[in-house]
Amino acid sequence: MSDSSHTGPAPATVVVTAGRPPAGPNQPMNVPVVLTSTYTASDFALQPGDLGYGRWSNPTWTALEETLGTLEGGRGLAFASGMAAISAVLGLVPQGGTVVIPDAPYSGTAQLAGELARTGRLGVRAVPVADTAAVVAALDGADLIVLESPTNPLMDVADLRAILAAARERDVLTAVDNTFATPLLQQPLSLGAHLVVHSATKYLSGHSDVLLGIVVTETGEDDELFGRLHGHRTLNGAIPGPMEAWLALRGVRTLALRVERASANAAELARRLTTHPAVSRVRYPGLPGDPGHELARSQMRGFGAMLSFELRGDAEQAERVGAAARLWVNATSLGGVESTLERRRRQSAESPLVPESLIRLSTGIEDVEDLWADLSQALDAAVKKD
Ligand SMILES: *Cc1c(COP(=O)(O)O)cnc(C)c1O
Repeated sequence: MSDSSHTGPAPATVVVTAGRPPAGPNQPMNVPVVLTSTYTASDFALQPGDLGYGRWSNPTWTALEETLGTLEGGRGLAFASGMAAISAVLGLVPQGGTVVIPDAPYSGTAQLAGELARTGRLGVRAVPVADTAAVVAALDGADLIVLESPTNPLMDVADLRAILAAARERDVLTAVDNTFATPLLQQPLSLGAHLVVHSATKYLSGHSDVLLGIVVTETGEDDELFGRLHGHRTLNGAIPGPMEAWLALRGVRTLALRVERASANAAELARRLTTHPAVSRVRYPGLPGDPGHELARSQMRGFGAMLSFELRGDAEQAERVGAAARLWVNATSLGGVESTLERRRRQSAESPLVPESLIRLSTGIEDVEDLWADLSQALDAAVKKD
């Protein structure tokens, strides 16, 4: 995963080297887990740079934030979860303002935006992200657009360059949820976004043992956005635990290896699924025939490890795939080293635009032949006439 256009160290190096304590005699290799609620003041009054209190700052968060900031090309801010990060971004919209979101985004994003709309906090416009003209038409008079690409779980690809440029022309604030791609495969700030959001619970942490969120702001003339988001985090208390931040950074160290292996597995499984008689449709931007393929090629460095497919069959048969799987774990969430699958509509909050028989795969780093053997037997078992 090298990148010849990059001037500094390549991302695969940054994930290993960033956020380390300064090298020196007897320095630890890794930042410690700083477990403290407060910091001793350096003087009678707080001085600039003082950490102050545990809700304002923590050295373990800072190591993770610096690493994600470097990877995304901006300034990172860690939150208690991906939803805490998204909530902070929505908090930037003025009272009664309008936010544009995908019509089938991550279900938590849809639920939170819907809740804020019901209470009159803000207006919501839901758009099909693959239809650039429709998205741009929805930007007039909006305050914020929160994009996903590829979307969770339909795997639609948005024309990020075109949409983000159109939003900037209209003074619309832009945020991209980059959870699926990770900064190794897509850097929204370089494509024109003001903000990047991550559920670091997923690929960044990578081991299904942490909940954590990240917002990365572009570094511009002023750090107003960063300051407002930091203020939101401090006053709403949406802070991560130091242990969680440490675990997430520990996960980031192997991000390049994990993403490379999991993506290779996903590409192979997507190709094989297209030929399986039980499968009616596969969505993976790496497939040459996928509607998002050319766009993904132009804005991503790789196609990632998420894919979804629809069964020739109903919800019940799709449920049987999960029940018949042995190696694939039937669970929600994604981005761990373990391969997981989920019929997304089993979640009552999932968008009705998602087909009942759609199964989302989060491809892990196991042996691809073992993954295929288990998935294909589960598919065969699910559609077998009994
Ligand atoms: C999981 C997820 C979130 C929410 O993150 P949490 O860490 O679970 O709060 C947001 N966006 C996407 C795309 C996700 O997959």
